[in-house]
Amino acid sequence: MNFMRLFPKALDPSHFLIVGLLAVSLSTIAQHGYWQQHVSYQMEIDMDVEKHQFAGKQKLVYTNNSPDTLTRVYYHLYFNAFQPGSMMDIRSRTLPDPDPRVGDRISKLKPEEIGYHTVQSLSQNGKYAEFKVQGTILEVKLPEPILPGAKSEFLMDFYSQVPLQVRRSGRDNAQGIDFSMTQWYPKLAEYDHEGWHPDPYVGREFFGVFGDFDVKISIDKKYVIGGTGYLQNPNEIGHGYQEQGVEVMQPLGDKLTWHFVAPQVHDFAWAADPDFIHDIQYVPNGPTLHFFYQEDTTGNWLKLQQDMVKAWQIMDSKFGKYPYKQFSTIQGGDGGMEYPMATLISSGRAYGGLLSVTVHEAFHNWYYGVLATNESKYPWMDEGFTSYAQDHVLNALNDYKNPNPHLGDVQRMADLYANGLQEPLTTHADHFQTNYCYGVSSYSKGSVFLMQLEYIIGKYDFWKGMKRYFNTWKFKHPTPNDFIRVMEKQSGLELNWFMDLWVGTTQHIDYSIKEVDKEKKGLTSIVLEKIGALPMPLDILVEDKDGNQIWYYIPVGLMRGEKPLEAGQEGRRILPDWEWTNPTYTFDIDLKRKHIKSIEIDPSTRMADLNNINGVYPFPKERKK
Ligand SMILES: [Zn+2]
Repeated sequence: MNFMRLFPKALDPSHFLIVGLLAVSLSTIAQHGYWQQHVSYQMEIDMDVEKHQFAGKQKLVYTNNSPDTLTRVYYHLYFNAFQPGSMMDIRSRTLPDPDPRVGDRISKLKPEEIGYHTVQSLSQNGKYAEFKVQGTILEVKLPEPILPGAKSEFLMDFYSQVPLQVRRSGRDNAQGIDFSMTQWYPKLAEYDHEGWHPDPYVGREFFGVFGDFDVKISIDKKYVIGGTGYLQNPNEIGHGYQEQGVEVMQPLGDKLTWHFVAPQVHDFAWAADPDFIHDIQYVPNGPTLHFFYQEDTTGNWLKLQQDMVKAWQIMDSKFGKYPYKQFSTIQGGDGGMEYPMATLISSGRAYGGLLSVTVHEAFHNWYYGVLATNESKYPWMDEGFTSYAQDHVLNALNDYKNPNPHLGDVQRMADLYANGLQEPLTTHADHFQTNYCYGVSSYSKGSVFLMQLEYIIGKYDFWKGMKRYFNTWKFKHPTPNDFIRVMEKQSGLELNWFMDLWVGTTQHIDYSIKEVDKEKKGLTSIVLEKIGALPMPLDILVEDKDGNQIWYYIPVGLMRGEKPLEAGQEGRRILPDWEWTNPTYTFDIDLKRKHIKSIEIDPSTRMADLNNINGVYPFPKERKK
């Protein structure tokens, strides 16, 4: 079918006048205000656990809060990625360094192992809707346009096959979990101020519309389900969900119908297995934590429950309060993957690894789940910020023994740059040319972005700013500019220069102590050199041979101010700004050279200088000129 014929550019002329008037008035409002779309899903799923197939009915009420008239919509059909010859298959077989979990496995799936969604019927407001399946995207020509502010009701019947687990979702994962049901239903694509985001699924990031989910899953009685949302019929289901003291009265028949409701989320995931053990823990003043796992001889899953209760309290106090009443950690999938109010974790690793991955995936709920940036466009705001939180929380669980838990990320960045494979963070997640660069950029460089901000604006404003960001932008899909504006307001400093260079370029930081000159009249001249293009303010510590410490601080002119004094830097001397155009900077210290014991740029190690060796005096032997 011809694409242009499916979506004619012009609307029916009878709509012109009213649509035009509405569009003009609302787009004027929209320039000043914020808007986002809204979805309300009702789904009924009937699982055939023998065939690994299910029939689905979906009612979707879509509210167009945009100032635009919509003549088409798009759905994601993620299961279609698990077919030989799909974009995900080809991408995996042509990347220089494919994800080893995928490799060429999709190309070898047999008909009973592939995944698919067959859309059997689709209507809008009772009218037949013409549609076309293009890989993992369903393109729908609307029988009637959706005007700004209007709601539309879509009814869909679909039939799906759950793929053999290859990446994230699927049946029969390596540890024998029967169903990891993620990215498992036809899901409306997001439309925002940048238009539609119908990104074909090639295995990386996600973006969805906020709304409410009401999901009924009928499945063989022996299965236990964990997932997004609150179970509405716990006393009928049992399986550890029932209220204390209640005798479970399961209905007659071979199947149970599990009814879940999830408010204000942008996705819904679940997993099912007959062998799930189901434990519950309570975070003081926080959510109920559910754990689903198979028989565990190591005791790791019990230990994990205690640590996650502690981790949750740290997260709530440092990064903002988790807004839902429940969270589920579920054994499943192929590593660790985040979903709203839930995560799927593969087990079978040493305890440290299990805790680390669970902390990471659970606390994605702050950045992926609640703030919900477009992670396809800005994976660093999701993976990077989550990695930063993960390192912070793990360090806090270990009594903050590590003065800087983020240095591993700086090293990974330095290695990437040394390999010459760096690409700017503005690269769309799907389009990084190596998995290696995508990984280091999104996770490590994104995490180090926050570490740099903490260094630039100081601890106090950084931590206040992180919470302010969460509280200002929760449930609103913030962009990079939304984040940096919060940090600017919090700190009173200009910060766009830093974000523009860190995110939009591959420039790096490298400062050196170039010369320590002979003193004149008791003063010693220090010459610093900016070797990397990316400018940064400098904290400099000078120590004399009597053990006295003197702190110097050189702001970057672009900041239009100074960070407040941080603890441990009492008596700090603020020097004139270093303008970014200037390759060198000279200042005097009132010590004779022979009385100087040491000079060090950023002894806190927070500035991500990719060549630290040249930032200290006396000059180390291995220093590169
Ligand atoms: Zn992650």
